Amino acid sequence: MLIAHLPAGYLLARRIAPRLAAAPADARRLMAVGLAGSVFPDIDLVIFYLADGRQTLHHDYWTHIPAFWPAAMLAAAGLLWLARAKVPWRAFLVFLAGIFLHLALDTPAGGILWGWPVSLHRFLLVDIPTRFDWWVWNFVLHWSFLAELAVCAWAAREFRAIGRFRDLKRALQARMVGAERESIE
Ligand SMILES: [Zn+2]
Repeated sequence: MLIAHLPAGYLLARRIAPRLAAAPADARRLMAVGLAGSVFPDIDLVIFYLADGRQTLHHDYWTHIPAFWPAAMLAAAGLLWLARAKVPWRAFLVFLAGIFLHLALDTPAGGILWGWPVSLHRFLLVDIPTRFDWWVWNFVLHWSFLAELAVCAWAAREFRAIGRFRDLKRALQARMVGAERESIE
C-alpha cells in the first residue's frame, strides 16, 4: 500500500481512541498515537534508501515483521515496570492496532512474513508485475490501487462529515447564546 495508510489509520483510530480514552483530551492523544502507528512501519524506507543501498526488501525489515511488535511492546512494558513507571497500556494498544492495520494493508500487494520466525513464507494476494523502472508506477498503475483510492475517499468523507457536524454545533451554540442575550435584554 502506498498512500492509504494514514487515511486507513484515521478510520481505525477514530473508532477505537474514544472508546479507550478516559477523557476527551486523552482521546485526541490516543488518536495521534493510532495515526503514528498506522504509518510507523514505513520508517524503514529511510534505512532502505539512505543506509542499505536498497539491498533488503522493504517488507523484510523488522518494522514490517508482525512478531516483532508484540515482543517489543512487552519488552517496553517490562522496562517501564522495572523502572516503576506507569505502563501506558491504552497508548500501547492503539499504537499496536495502527501497526497491525498497516501490516494487514501491506499484505495483499506487498507481502508480509506473518509466520516469522517459524516460517519465511511471504503472505501475498496479488503479484504486482514489474513494468516500469520506478517501482512506484507499478503500484499506482495497477488495478489494486483503486482500493487505496477508495480508502482515501472513505476517510475524506468521514473527515468532512465531522467538519460539518462541528459547524452545525458551533452554529447551534451561537444561536443559543444569541437567544440567551435576547431574553436578558
Ligand atoms: Zn509498509
